[in-house]
Amino acid sequence: MERRPFSRFIDRMGEVARGLLRREPSPGMIGAPPSARSPWHDPARHARDFGERHAGLIDYHVESRMLELGIDPVRIGWGDVEAGIRHAAFHPHVGDGGNVSPDGRIIVGSGVFSDELLRAEYGDEAAELFRASRTRDRLDSILAHEYEEHAHGMSHAEAVKHAPETELPISDRARAIARAMEKGWKREIAGRGLGQPER
Ligand SMILES: [Zn+2]
Repeated sequence: MERRPFSRFIDRMGEVARGLLRREPSPGMIGAPPSARSPWHDPARHARDFGERHAGLIDYHVESRMLELGIDPVRIGWGDVEAGIRHAAFHPHVGDGGNVSPDGRIIVGSGVFSDELLRAEYGDEAAELFRASRTRDRLDSILAHEYEEHAHGMSHAEAVKHAPETELPISDRARAIARAMEKGWKREIAGRGLGQPER
């Protein structure tokens, strides 16, 4: 069986992210107004904070996974000068799961670490499957979506439809996430990308 140390590392990063997320609030915080609440109550905000603190390390492992899946190196990541990124596959300030450029380059956003990434746009079944999945499987499902979006004329609808059968050798669990997304997708919600809009 093939060894995948980079993927295991990614899973550990996700466990750390979610371990922090599920920390119980202190008794003194119960009943506090939203403005006074800790970021740990906001999955998207927490995911972004986690991603920003570990951006370099996560980027290295996201890029490794993309290479493992056979994605052409010229299609891995891009730069974002305004965000201070010269070139990266992981963009922590992007709240979505990922994004793809018209010429097929793919990035991953901090949404990969958010337990609630899929709920609003894809329903509870997809959301629960995603929440209970390892980070590598979450990552694979995001990469498949963005890859298929480019392969089908930058159509989000076509990406939702084709991701479950992507030619990329993603995990079975990632295909299950993609299938649940297809089943639960709420077309009436205009998605900018994979998941919730950036905050
Ligand atoms: Zn899309």
